[in-house]
Amino acid sequence: MTKTFDALVCGGSLAGSAAALVLARQGRSVAVLDRAVFPRPKLCGGLLTWKTVRLLETLFGETPASLAEAGAVNHASDRYVIRTPNRLLAEGALSFPFHFSDRAVLDALLLDHARRAGAEVFEGAEVATCDPRNGEATLKTGETFRGRFLIGADGANSVVRKSFPNYDRERWRELTAPTIEIQLDADRLPRVVEHPELYIGQLEAGYGWVFPNPGKAVLGICGLRRGNVNFSRLFREYLEILEIDPNTVSERRGHPLPYGNYLEEPVCGATLLAGDAGGFVEPLFGEGIFFALCTGRYAGEAVAAALAGGTDPGPRYVDRLRRYVLPELRGSDRLRWTLFRSMGLFGPRSLSWFVKLLGGPLGDMVHGKRSYARLRKKTWDFPTPARPA
Ligand SMILES: Cc1cc2nc3c(=O)[nH]c(=O)nc-3n(C[C@H](O)[C@H](O)[C@H](O)COP(=O)(O)OP(=O)(O)OC[C@H]3O[C@@H](n4cnc5c(N)ncnc54)[C@H](O)[C@@H]3O)c2cc1C
Repeated sequence: MTKTFDALVCGGSLAGSAAALVLARQGRSVAVLDRAVFPRPKLCGGLLTWKTVRLLETLFGETPASLAEAGAVNHASDRYVIRTPNRLLAEGALSFPFHFSDRAVLDALLLDHARRAGAEVFEGAEVATCDPRNGEATLKTGETFRGRFLIGADGANSVVRKSFPNYDRERWRELTAPTIEIQLDADRLPRVVEHPELYIGQLEAGYGWVFPNPGKAVLGICGLRRGNVNFSRLFREYLEILEIDPNTVSERRGHPLPYGNYLEEPVCGATLLAGDAGGFVEPLFGEGIFFALCTGRYAGEAVAAALAGGTDPGPRYVDRLRRYVLPELRGSDRLRWTLFRSMGLFGPRSLSWFVKLLGGPLGDMVHGKRSYARLRKKTWDFPTPARPA
């Protein structure tokens, strides 16, 4: 028997929670299908920028203080450090701290918001196949769900995206970055890490990170496949750069990161893609949390408007992406190739010239106060204080 809803959301992480929350608040019947049971582990550095903090507040009513109280945010730092394998390249202060989240806790908390707003959440529900034209998803168990509209928020390996007839598998693969990430107790690091550190110059079209957390650090690498052939070997070398003996690190996990493969029109029939499923990750630093929440919200609002007006959600969704999201992703994409090429020609010091020349506005660009498109002041369609903190 097919279960039928106004909207079906495949994936109950950030994009899925945002979409389901918006729809449930408008009184729509919405089902969220996720193969996991929450809280579940999620490989992620967990770094939240200013725009993410603002959106979490606007959409979910969660502040850094309430997130910290819930255990979803566990550290903040208003400085950054950029290193090469053998020297400090740049460091500086930020106009707003980066906050570090525990994704297992954060994701469960946000999904709970959607549930409390009225969304019906099906955990342990793995989607096996999808018919995007009819808004239908069939689980591994054979059970079938149908929505008048469907939102694919099932992450980088999205089953929903793969069901689109125009899915370009080769392009997707080429612009997907493999990642490896681990957590280490702080006492296993050769020095105290208080601020987020980026390592450039080891990987081509990629980088390494060390993010501070209380009593531990989250460290990892990501990069496009071209030029970065053996990721396991690269990770061992990265540990050596950090002066950590790779033989003492047994656990390492990987997950694909969309890294420039965002879809400009992620729509097919009754179905919209949001978050990693649509490739909405900023392609220089790999920021995906904000873009998952933002596109999840846009997809939910487009479907809500379509349900109310008997219209098609696609044009409204694509229009919103074009106005607010795509300029950032395109701008960041251009910037990364400029930076990676100049580092190829002049070495990592070209990045330090760049950081010295542009200084503070670069931090504001990452935070979303300024645009990746020529560093212009960025206007978002959610409330931001007139004088941003
Ligand atoms: C190593 C690493 C570090 C990162 N660090 C950062 C960072 O510091 N800051 C940042 O902003 N971004 C970071 N990102 C990116 C960020 O994690 C993602 O962009 C973000 O999680 C995307 O959210 P989402 O809701 O689209 O998808 P996901 O969070 O991937 O969630 C997808 C959901 O769909 C479910 N699902 C998948 N397949 C199915 C199926 N077939 N049926 C049912 N359910 C399914 C999954 O269980 C999951 O809950 C990082 C990514 C990686 C890999």
